[in-house]
Amino acid sequence: VEFLELIFPKRCLGCGKKGLYVCRTCIEAVGRCDFVCQSCERPSIDGFTHTKCRRKRGLDRLVSIWKYEKVIRSAILAIKYKFATSLLDEIAEYLLEVVERENIYFPADSCMVPIPMHWLRQNRRGFNQSFELCKKISVKLGLKLDEVLIRKKLGIPQTGLRGKQRSENIKGVFAANPAKEVRGIYILFDDVYTTGSTLKEAASVLKRAGASEVYGFTIAK
Ligand SMILES: [Zn+2]
Ligand SMILES: [Zn+2]
Repeated sequence: VEFLELIFPKRCLGCGKKGLYVCRTCIEAVGRCDFVCQSCERPSIDGFTHTKCRRKRGLDRLVSIWKYEKVIRSAILAIKYKFATSLLDEIAEYLLEVVERENIYFPADSCMVPIPMHWLRQNRRGFNQSFELCKKISVKLGLKLDEVLIRKKLGIPQTGLRGKQRSENIKGVFAANPAKEVRGIYILFDDVYTTGSTLKEAASVLKRAGASEVYGFTIAK
């Protein structure tokens, strides 16, 4: 039993029903994201960037599962500020159900990469929830996970910044991990896709370091 559960009996973050942090009724009420090209935002097959929209150092695909609304919004905010492993388990489980139901395919030799948090912020909250969730999902998908990205600068949190400010703020924040070899296809995992500046910056770093293709994979958009 987790510490938090001793104080707070598990209740659905959406409707308050006891038992789970995210109940099935609430998760099914959340809208699915359409597959679109991350560059032009028009529909695309499986979220692949259109050939004409591809950039040498850009993202080649974006898979976002849910719309950033309702219970998934509450759940993402909760995992940012609280330590609750079972909430991560529930999200990973629901996410995998969508991946299986819709046959969302990731190449077997691709490798998942969590977006690194700066150690200062990571320590203050006690753990890197994004890394933990990425780990759970990579295990469920049968994919490797490799921390090929590291974070150099603290930067100010992206929350509250708009489009251009976000891309300026994130520039130079990541570097390829000098202890790792970078090659093949990488799947960058993050909780929410907002303007895409974080994933785009991370993709460009990985491509400069030798990645052949870089996909983005987010819980919500
Ligand atoms: Zn509910
Ligand atoms: Zn396009």
